Amino acid sequence: MASSTSRPATSTQIQLCLMSLPKDKAPRHFMVFACSDSRVCPSHVLHFQPGEAFIVRNIANMVPAFDQLKHAGVGATIEYAVKELGVANILVMGHSNCGGIKRLMSYPEDGSEPFDFIDEWVKMSLPAKAEVIAEAGSADFHEQCERCARESVNLSLANLLTYPFVQKAHLDEKLALRGGYYDFVNGIFELWELKSHISNLIIVQS
Ligand SMILES: [Zn+2]
Repeated sequence: MASSTSRPATSTQIQLCLMSLPKDKAPRHFMVFACSDSRVCPSHVLHFQPGEAFIVRNIANMVPAFDQLKHAGVGATIEYAVKELGVANILVMGHSNCGGIKRLMSYPEDGSEPFDFIDEWVKMSLPAKAEVIAEAGSADFHEQCERCARESVNLSLANLLTYPFVQKAHLDEKLALRGGYYDFVNGIFELWELKSHISNLIIVQS
């Protein structure tokens, strides 16, 4: 990831940050992936009003790669958002202290009992975990988890490009792919955009 800048701002400015787009790309044209965690409701965090955002929530805000035989429910939401709604932006919003990310980072090394569904779901971000271990294997567990929350968002952005209709809309510059990380402890929202490379990080203090 490139250099970061700190820009203290009000929470309302978080949405203004999201709106730093051509004027014809209004915020109502957003699709948002957010965690099911009740502390990170995107309508609350980003001040979306009814009709402004098409929202998908799941454990650790993950986007699986294109696969018609697995996770079809997620694929259906992406297909509908892109093909029918014509969203101009897809935002994948990670967050601090994510239970799903903690599970990804701790299992199976902690020797705990497997979950029937959660482990199968979060393992789609094993490449993000591997990258964190490679780059910050000596960091404490909390730091590793926060790093992984961001890396998992980047993996989800890459996975979005495995959907042919997403890739086409993105290459045609009709669809922006954005990553976010919401630190609800410190009231900080980070936002970046997937281009041919990961863009500069924008940090907004809420
Ligand atoms: Zn979470």
